[in-house]
Amino acid sequence: MDDPPRIPRRRVLRGAVGAAGLAALGPLAAGCSTTPLTRAVPQAVERHLTPAEAWERLAVGNMHWVAGRLDHPDQTPERRRAVAAAQHPFATVLTCIDSRVTPETVFDQGVGDLFVVRTGAQTVDGLVTGSIEYGPLQDGTPLIVVLGHQNCGAVKAAVAAIESGRRPPGHLADVVEALRPAVEEARAQGGDTVDRAVHAQIRRTVTELRRDPALAPRIDRGGLGLVGAYYELASGRVSLLSTVGF
Ligand SMILES: [Zn+2]
Repeated sequence: MDDPPRIPRRRVLRGAVGAAGLAALGPLAAGCSTTPLTRAVPQAVERHLTPAEAWERLAVGNMHWVAGRLDHPDQTPERRRAVAAAQHPFATVLTCIDSRVTPETVFDQGVGDLFVVRTGAQTVDGLVTGSIEYGPLQDGTPLIVVLGHQNCGAVKAAVAAIESGRRPPGHLADVVEALRPAVEEARAQGGDTVDRAVHAQIRRTVTELRRDPALAPRIDRGGLGLVGAYYELASGRVSLLSTVGF
């Protein structure tokens, strides 16, 4: 029996990624595994990542997850102590509450690496948007990722509620109403309503954040990027759907 393919586990120090780094992200969306599975940007310079560098770091981490070869970076007592006084995460991830979509795991990151905001089907309102704004506005976080996922229970519940006309109990109704535009868009398109609604919700959320008065100037200046992405539950693969700002 052949040995399984070896995946480089070492962390390598490379120069600025820029456009070349962004080009390297193509394989992520295409499911290609030719990109070396190495951490392209050392922890020491994480404070100064560009949006493209930040996304590359997440993309490389996701390749680790897909391949089942996690690095588990930044999960040592030393790292815990190092970030106790101050944190400078390199990305904010907005995703669903789903127990199978844990950002630090699917992007192979650790303590102090990510701001994470989670709501049902990554729906947003003023309170949630304030939490998303925190990193970019208060700490110069260079990237926001809107991560929707396959087989989203919140979207399925919203589709069922809207198609049946039955109001769900409690504040679940608020989640349904937040998802109504995406669900209506998906129903008008036909096909797999749930999956189309997941994609529509990702697009709509990216558009909403792009227009956010506090975030838009930072995106325009090039210091903040915005990514729409989709997570497949079984494969673990994150597909890049859209980028803004890089
Ligand atoms: Zn979900």
